[in-house]
Amino acid sequence: MIETEGLTKFYGPLAAIRDVTFHIERGEVVGFLGPNGAGKSTTIRILTCYMPATAGSARIDGTDCFEQSLEVRRKVGYLPENVPLYLDLTVRRFLRFAAGVKGINGKDQEGEISRVIGICGLEKVSHRILGHLSKGYRQRVGLAQALLNSPPVLILDEPTIGLDPAQIVEIRKLIHELREEHTILLSSHVLPEVAQLCDRVLIINKGQIVATDTPGNLTAQLQKSAQIVLQVDGDAAGLAPALESLEGVQRVSFRENQHGRFWIETDRSRELRPEIARLVVDRRLDLLELKLVDLSLEEIFMQLVTEEPSQEESET
Ligand code: ADP
Repeated sequence: MIETEGLTKFYGPLAAIRDVTFHIERGEVVGFLGPNGAGKSTTIRILTCYMPATAGSARIDGTDCFEQSLEVRRKVGYLPENVPLYLDLTVRRFLRFAAGVKGINGKDQEGEISRVIGICGLEKVSHRILGHLSKGYRQRVGLAQALLNSPPVLILDEPTIGLDPAQIVEIRKLIHELREEHTILLSSHVLPEVAQLCDRVLIINKGQIVATDTPGNLTAQLQKSAQIVLQVDGDAAGLAPALESLEGVQRVSFRENQHGRFWIETDRSRELRPEIARLVVDRRLDLLELKLVDLSLEEIFMQLVTEEPSQEESET
């Protein structure tokens, strides 16, 4: 339903995205996850025909985003990160305007507007002025305009950014209900949101897709190894190589400015904490903390997108 091949976009000399390839099937709800500046909005702007790519191709429901952009726009409901609302219009007038832009006119218009007002729970505020509504309600109006004409694909860019917790719950519930009728690409830098709403996650970092899987599989994949956090007090020079030499230790990360804290990745089938404790004590260091951490998707994400310098690198 949404396909990209080798999508690349340069802003001047800067590659905002490079060789981005993914396929989203009809009916899937896919999270597009990455830190700020990773390239999510750039990819979305290309998919929604707001700008062309430098190289590669993108298709929505088989229609080329560059060559048949008008048709693509009819197939995609887009909720941008900042919804451009006319704040002095009422909800219903704004939706009339948005419907007109989408070519919904005449006798179909009022019925279609009432339909999206119903889906988004806007009945009570339909005659109020947008400028007087809470941010949560404005976001619902943004969703309502995206739903006009029932497009098969919805692209939602950071749909809950800037909302308060109660509003976040409501918007997520609404998105959850929309999954029945639409293929959804949801961009977010909020991991619990993606884990909660999506069948699959695409993780983008520095303009490239670094992982794609279900939230559950991503967790399982990384849980083959165990993570141990160690904190010591004293002269910890040389401790990282000693930890690395223990059988079963896969990787040790240590940062100068983290108050003697080490992040140790080990083989999950081995219990290495007693050995690590002995090593610390033998080196006459004080043991402040030694614990096994369970990886949440949030921590997995941090692993995927941050390169923790090893001891050698942090010393140079
Ligand atoms: P995200 O949506 O994941 O935060 P963006 O797609 O907005 O990421 O940005 C990707 C990269 O492209 C960033 O390095 C950003 O600074 C850069 N960038 C985005 N838009 C522009 C632009 N209009 N001109 C120049 N650089 C841009």
